Amino acid sequence: MEREDIIEIFTKTSAMLSGHFLLTSGKHSNRYFQCAQVLQHPQYTQELCRELATKFKNQGVETVIGPAMGGILVSYEVARAMGVRSLFTERVNGKMALRRNFTIQPGEKVLVVEDVITTGGSVAEVIDVVKSMGGEVVGVGVLVDRSNGKAKLGVRTEALLTVEVETYDPEHCPLCASGMPAVKPGSRQTV
Ligand code: ZN
Repeated sequence: MEREDIIEIFTKTSAMLSGHFLLTSGKHSNRYFQCAQVLQHPQYTQELCRELATKFKNQGVETVIGPAMGGILVSYEVARAMGVRSLFTERVNGKMALRRNFTIQPGEKVLVVEDVITTGGSVAEVIDVVKSMGGEVVGVGVLVDRSNGKAKLGVRTEALLTVEVETYDPEHCPLCASGMPAVKPGSRQTV
């Protein structure tokens, strides 16, 4: 898949919006991602995850794992493409954990996946969970890296799409200066 094919899928499913957005942090931005919008379509999810899987072929991946919620579907589809099993981690009292009798064997080769990384925090926690069980992290695969190069995970990281998202303090927002109304993502109302 070419970069423009991937962008087309994210755009037509409204997973990637361009405009002028009011973020919950109070900052403004020129782009907004809601990966659930693309993951609601199994055919696109399958297409994207197949492509992500090809980046890690012949690496001996035995298991794919992702953090709940977004990572579950990505892990499942990447694992399907690779013909291996799929696990997910979830938070227990705020701490990332492997539950439901899921296990990882010492030396097992594990690929960590996620839908979108911003700081890479959740993915880093999943890597720790895998390592704590003796698993070997082969790499990290994400659909979208919007960390602007900030996520340093210490393992090979591949993204289908790397996108710069500019964020601004409202008082220094060039979009505000241009007079474009700011929109709260998920609502049609301007603010
Ligand atoms: Zn603004």
